[in-house]
Amino acid sequence: MTKFLRLDFIAMTTCVLALLITMTSPSWASDGKIHITWLGHAAFQVTSPGGTTLLFDPFIKNNPKTPEKFKDLSQYKPDAILLTHSHGDHVGDAEAIAAASGAKVIGVFDHLKSLELPEGAAMGGNPGGKFKVGDVTVNLVPAMHSSSPGGRPLGYVVQFADGRSLYDTGDTWIFGDMALIDEIFSPNIIFLQAGGGPYNQDPRIAALGIKKYFKADTVIPMHYGTWPILSGEDEVKAELGATAGIKIMQPGDSSDF
Ligand SMILES: [Zn+2]
Repeated sequence: MTKFLRLDFIAMTTCVLALLITMTSPSWASDGKIHITWLGHAAFQVTSPGGTTLLFDPFIKNNPKTPEKFKDLSQYKPDAILLTHSHGDHVGDAEAIAAASGAKVIGVFDHLKSLELPEGAAMGGNPGGKFKVGDVTVNLVPAMHSSSPGGRPLGYVVQFADGRSLYDTGDTWIFGDMALIDEIFSPNIIFLQAGGGPYNQDPRIAALGIKKYFKADTVIPMHYGTWPILSGEDEVKAELGATAGIKIMQPGDSSDF
């Protein structure tokens, strides 16, 4: 081959490969990064480096903080939906998204029995249990809150294939077993309940939990500012602003890690 022909061949092969990758993969699959989108309140979409998509507490349609472009449920095609507990601001649109997308739903065994889920969608467990979903492992861990119907609330630790992990505290008060969650999983990223009001730990206690028990690289506060009864962003920034790795997101924001 002449030099120019060889260059043409390389360019054409590259184009064909790029096209094949575009046709066969989600746009951000398998790029080595963890992609996180905050949908407002406790709802997050997380895509693993290998392309596994998880939807946490998908309270979307009636969520006053979810940006309009994220309200159309047909855009969600997660591999699994993770429910921390049975309250409406967490279960949200889980049943509708599971029915439309075929996603599995992970939660407390007794809670999932109370939902109308498609046949075979429920993956019920208890604290200490775990499920393999695509290239991630989803671990069920304790949280200190209420959950009726459905037994008890949960947090989640998602372990990625590259060794990193993400901890969603769920709705909770600070508790001593957070030390065990750090000892066992050493989460790199934490979704931190910091909403206060009558329901949960406030931003000051949330900050104490991080300082006392964790060494995460990134801490993303959530569950605040949705309604006036909850702590606002100013309070979250004031109490958590000095926390190592703190990342204040806005609903609709995406970040790569
Ligand atoms: Zn809540």
